[in-house]
Amino acid sequence: MVARRLPYLTSRLQGFGTTIFAEMSALAIETESVNLGQGFPDTDGPPEVLEAAVAAIRAGHNQYPPGPGIPQLREAIAAHQARFYALHLDPDREVLVTAGATEAIAACILALCEVGDEVLVFEPLYDSYSACIALAGATPRSVTLRPPDHTVDLAALAAAITPKTRLLLLNSPHNPTGKVFTRAELEGIAELCLEHDLIAVTDEVYEHLVFDGEHIPLSTFPGMRERTLTISSGGKTFSCTGWKIGWVCGPPALVAAVRTAKQFLTYVNGGPFQHAIALGLSMSDEFYRTTADALRAKRDRLCAGLAAAGFEVFVPQGTYFATVDVRSVGATDGMAFCRALPHRCGVVAIPSVVFYERPEEGRHLVRFAFCKRDEVLDDAVARLGSLKS
Ligand code: PMP
Ligand code: GLN
Repeated sequence: MVARRLPYLTSRLQGFGTTIFAEMSALAIETESVNLGQGFPDTDGPPEVLEAAVAAIRAGHNQYPPGPGIPQLREAIAAHQARFYALHLDPDREVLVTAGATEAIAACILALCEVGDEVLVFEPLYDSYSACIALAGATPRSVTLRPPDHTVDLAALAAAITPKTRLLLLNSPHNPTGKVFTRAELEGIAELCLEHDLIAVTDEVYEHLVFDGEHIPLSTFPGMRERTLTISSGGKTFSCTGWKIGWVCGPPALVAAVRTAKQFLTYVNGGPFQHAIALGLSMSDEFYRTTADALRAKRDRLCAGLAAAGFEVFVPQGTYFATVDVRSVGATDGMAFCRALPHRCGVVAIPSVVFYERPEEGRHLVRFAFCKRDEVLDDAVARLGSLKS
């Protein structure tokens, strides 16, 4: 994030500047670089899902959908949670459709935090979390996940809890590290939530992009269903990040609070796309398996290439991001490295420092996205190879 002071901008958002994704994608276009920065796939998702969106437009589903989302989608979300996690939800009272996971996160934080409340987060953290916490007038308290394993320090987490702590925000599989939180870590986190009466908000947008280990929703742990808001979206699973169909599931009283905030943010969005994502969620187990398998092969392809180019690579267990330590190629500062990289060799990546509350923890780390065609990954690796010479 660029820390320049902007006139007119509210003090709550000073320092947030332009998102790194916008800055780096613009740089990729300007320099005609291979863009492994912003995480979006460069191929379309399942044709039947795309066709369902076209059919929904042709069938005239072009006006405001109902505020909580169309019933077919809420039912499909409930059926998905039952199929994969044995979580049984009432689609009318426990499921809310949102404008992507981004709006779900914003609505949860704005609905639940008083000014002055504290929100527990793990750093590095996805950039919109800090901005939404700031918009709510709340304060983040972060616990650092450190490579190579990004193990949760439960003692540090417990120590970060104060009487003002209201929420715990958890993202697993985790952007940018690719960590999949383990059962033991989640158990420890759940115990702290129960002991300190915290509400958990979990961002599970990469739930189906897991290569090693298993994705376990925090809401499946004893006592957590009653205090967890579970967020996901169709963007990653169905390779349609531009559609912005997300959702939040949880107990009726929490969902009612979030719905109240959500209705004044976008009210509703993406009517025809809601129909298409409903169809996508009902796709076979085989679809979900092959999606993860294809991406696992891309992970291995990019990580091997990065290692061959001389980088120390932290191989992710999930998501579509891999992290490197730029000190392994003689650099020290990831931001300077990423700003120079398009000019040096025509590749764009994201400096992980933007995801840290404590910049010193992530200054030397850089994130590459691998949700790209094999030839694009190979091209990027070949270009990065020239760094050695
Ligand atoms: N959370 C995380 C961890 C993400 O990486 C992203 C974006 N890719 C989002 C939320 C936003 O999801 P959406 O596009 O559905 O708003
Ligand atoms: N979530 C994507 C990423 O981490 C990009 C989202 C965005 O552009 N805001 O790359």
